Amino acid sequence: MKTSIFPLATLREIPREAETISHQLMLRSGMIRKLAAGIYSWLPLGLRVLQKVTTVVRREMDNLGALEILMPNIQPRELWDQSGRWDSTGEQLLKIKDRHQHDFCFGPTHEEVVTDLVRRELRSYKQLPLTLYQIQTKFRDEIRPRFGVMRSREFLMKDAYSFHTTESSLEETYLAMGEAYHKIFTALGLKFRMVIADTGNIGGNISQEFQALAHVGEDIIAYSDGSGYAANLEMATTMAPREDTTGEAGLTLATVDTPGVTTVAEVAELLQVPQRKILKTLIARGNHQPYVALVLRGDHELNEIKVAKLPEIASPLTLIDGSKLPEILGCSAGSIGPRNLSIPTIIDRDAFAVKNFICGANRDGQHLLNVNWHRDVPASYVADIRKAQEGDPSPDGQGKLHFARGIEVGQIFQLGKKYSCAMEATVLDENGQATALYMGCYGIGISRTVAAIIEQHHDQRGILWPTAVAPFQVVIVPMNLTRSPRVKEAAEMLYKELINNKIEVLFDDRQERAGVIFADMDLIGIPHRIVIGDRGLERNTVEYKFRSQTDAMDIALDKILDFIKDRIKTV
Ligand code: ATP
Ligand code: MG
Repeated sequence: MKTSIFPLATLREIPREAETISHQLMLRSGMIRKLAAGIYSWLPLGLRVLQKVTTVVRREMDNLGALEILMPNIQPRELWDQSGRWDSTGEQLLKIKDRHQHDFCFGPTHEEVVTDLVRRELRSYKQLPLTLYQIQTKFRDEIRPRFGVMRSREFLMKDAYSFHTTESSLEETYLAMGEAYHKIFTALGLKFRMVIADTGNIGGNISQEFQALAHVGEDIIAYSDGSGYAANLEMATTMAPREDTTGEAGLTLATVDTPGVTTVAEVAELLQVPQRKILKTLIARGNHQPYVALVLRGDHELNEIKVAKLPEIASPLTLIDGSKLPEILGCSAGSIGPRNLSIPTIIDRDAFAVKNFICGANRDGQHLLNVNWHRDVPASYVADIRKAQEGDPSPDGQGKLHFARGIEVGQIFQLGKKYSCAMEATVLDENGQATALYMGCYGIGISRTVAAIIEQHHDQRGILWPTAVAPFQVVIVPMNLTRSPRVKEAAEMLYKELINNKIEVLFDDRQERAGVIFADMDLIGIPHRIVIGDRGLERNTVEYKFRSQTDAMDIALDKILDFIKDRIKTV
């Protein structure tokens, strides 16, 4: 490809709207352009990279025996009513009406459509297991699209769906898919972790995410330094503390005046106690009762994902705003405590292990000292509802937890029979009985993965593409092209040879200064650069530089082809 027919759209300035490196570099290198909030066009350079990622993903899906299909973007409401997700998906679902006023949505994911497809096509257990996949545009009306294609509204996803008659067959495919994901993200040059994940609105019981490590990542990963344990912080369990490890004796319950003191930090300061001795109480909407109290240690934070799953809690989880509490409970937020509280109480496991604790007295301006569970407060409902913290013991008992930030590039789910039961997707088993299918689903955010790769592979000058995704492997920069027939001849010759050897090469035939061309090529991140000039040709050499190295070297003109072929294989 020559730059004269492959216009580069590089920008010198850092676009103001771009907060992350990957977003900046994707705009500056001319990979993408914004059409509307969270909606982007891919320019020729960007599309080449997107297609490289697609190629790696497709290769591993095909190796797994998954069959590629293409389902429609526009999906009829009836299917979403059958799964119950037309209403539960909320504002993310872009709803559309056709000219007959029939409801449709633009697919944010395809469980409904694929389940409908297989319930019509499959008859017998003999046709299973089966894995189908597609690579296709999704739309999710994200509340806060940001970071370019990292969290966009329209994006490219690989979504695969597997169907089985037994749970063990589902588990087998789920494991194989996890291994395929390892191969894919390794081939794409990503540093990543597979972590235990929440199943969210997709559903099912077992799920794992693939998180590319990056400090701009929106997710927090908790991982152990003593074992392979790793979980999204949303799902990281905490170790149940053994009751009363301190052997502390119960002290006498007392009331203390704390006028105007409401936050945990203020109470700790006033009473000169550590925050872990103070228990705080939050109020949520209940499922069977109007309100439920949630009690946590003062130094811990509520994990909203964990608590939302408890049957006593109304969904979606709604925490009651502090300003409403005097009306509901007769005192302000900072004075609520579990003793003599008129509503059901859920106690975090760590809060339950604290002896002689301090809590609000359910009267403004007062706190209780030396409160003990059972003796002073009946404690019937204890659960893990807090966020894990750095330094916590790993829940598998080996090592301590550390945190890292990640970009979720993929997620795999064991859905069980959620969709097949709701949508009556069955086949006949060995005994001729109709049996609902077990299902798995497996996503990769193709466009987000491109941004994640850039977050991990760049320097001050631009992108450093790993070989598997580089838009071109080699760039030829001829010096003085229009005035030197010798340079033109050598450059054209090498260009042809590289093409004949199936090496993707960009020929920069622009009338630009060398400095401009070099800056552009560094920004775009082409791994191998060959400069051809009169001075070198007099000695029969060309100049070679690898993108991430500072020094160039002279290579004999008749050796450069073999040299490049070798370099591409080894880096
Ligand atoms: P997130 O938690 O980041 O909103 P999700 O868990 O809702 O994502 P999935 O339903 O698991 O997403 O979709 C599969 C993959 O699609 C994700 O792992 C992610 O890589 C990608 N993806 C999801 N939402 C977006 C988005 N708004 N922009 C770009 N990629 C996305
Ligand atoms: Mg996900």
